[in-house]
Amino acid sequence: MLVVTGPSGAGKGTLIRELLRRVPEVEVTVSATTRERRPGEENGREYWFLPRDEFQRRIDAGDFLEWVEYVSGHRYGTLRSELGRIRDAGHLPLLELETEGALRVKEDVRDAVTIFISAPVEELERRLTERATESAGEIGERIELARRQLLQADEFDYVIENDDLGAAVDKLTELVRNLLAPAATMPRR
Ligand code: 5GP
Repeated sequence: MLVVTGPSGAGKGTLIRELLRRVPEVEVTVSATTRERRPGEENGREYWFLPRDEFQRRIDAGDFLEWVEYVSGHRYGTLRSELGRIRDAGHLPLLELETEGALRVKEDVRDAVTIFISAPVEELERRLTERATESAGEIGERIELARRQLLQADEFDYVIENDDLGAAVDKLTELVRNLLAPAATMPRR
């Protein structure tokens, strides 16, 4: 499986969308979350939006590969059933996770390949502020967390700088294509 991580605002979502257009073998797991749905989001597409008690029930049942409590106490997790669904379709699962969950998967799943998306800190702040889908308090919390997460880049297999979107998409695509074709030559960090 592939794990794409990095601070909120680094542009993981945009990069992954572009990757999927170019490499159709890759399929993104739909995470479960307890956070509110944003305008335009659909249950089962961006996330499985679960009430907190249902999320807890699924934790207790051992249904999650990993889960975390993120800012403002919202929980996010990867359901094992998503991996099965994607593998059964003959596709390669891609997980988009914040850094704590990504590190946990890296420890637990030996053949997981982890990719950290980085961006200049001013850019992260600008994107998080402009998106304005969260309250001012939560934006502040996300910025603070993003600053700390930037320092964790070295713990992952690959780092891609997203200061130029086109170049970052090219790098991510090349990396994933190389991983799918075992003749890969790109050195692993
Ligand atoms: P957002 O609320 O902006 O959609 O997501 C907040 C953060 O949660 C992002 O950094 C995203 O990568 C992360 N995230 C989304 N789904 C999961 C998940 O299943 N597990 C973990 N650990 N993080 C997730």
